[in-house]
Amino acid sequence: MNALTEDERAHLRGLLELAEARVDAGLSASTQEAKPVDLELAIGRLSRVDAMQHQQMARARRDRVAAQLEQIRSALRRFDAGAYGACISCGEPIGYARLVARPEALKCQACQLGEG
Ligand SMILES: [Zn+2]
Repeated sequence: MNALTEDERAHLRGLLELAEARVDAGLSASTQEAKPVDLELAIGRLSRVDAMQHQQMARARRDRVAAQLEQIRSALRRFDAGAYGACISCGEPIGYARLVARPEALKCQACQLGEG
């Protein structure tokens, strides 16, 4: 049982596709940034330590963005499977307001909070 109307589903689908495009672009940028630093070429005010710290932060950011993108794509796959909007944990409708705020959400608030 899906609690979303057709209009709501269409709106959420649009939000997901926008989010995918935005996050995908962000991932390209942070992948570029996370490339190994050529320490021999680290010059100017950026010391080697700074360069390595910067790279570690860029990698962590890239990993977060990659995970977010995977979650959005997973939501889009569920859309195509007709399962979008139902909690993957308890099967209850996730709720339109929550999905507008987080279109990639796969779980209802209760289950998400229950995970800690
Ligand atoms: Zn749930």
